[in-house]
Amino acid sequence: MPAIAEIRSTALPHSVPRGSDLPTCPVCADSMIAAEASAYLPDNVIGHLWSCDTCGYGFVTKHVVQRIACN
Ligand SMILES: [Zn+2]
Repeated sequence: MPAIAEIRSTALPHSVPRGSDLPTCPVCADSMIAAEASAYLPDNVIGHLWSCDTCGYGFVTKHVVQRIACN
């Protein structure tokens, strides 16, 4: 009797939006929790300003946004 229950493990933590997008500090390797500031840059790029709580090091990451044409 084929009674196959398809159980998918979807035990993803709710507090992590995109998995491993959060950077770590290049100086002390502490993990960043939230960007201090964000700015839209040309060419669909978003820049995030990060500031390390542990050592005070600040750096910027840039992400290219896949823009969906809506107009
Ligand atoms: Zn640091």
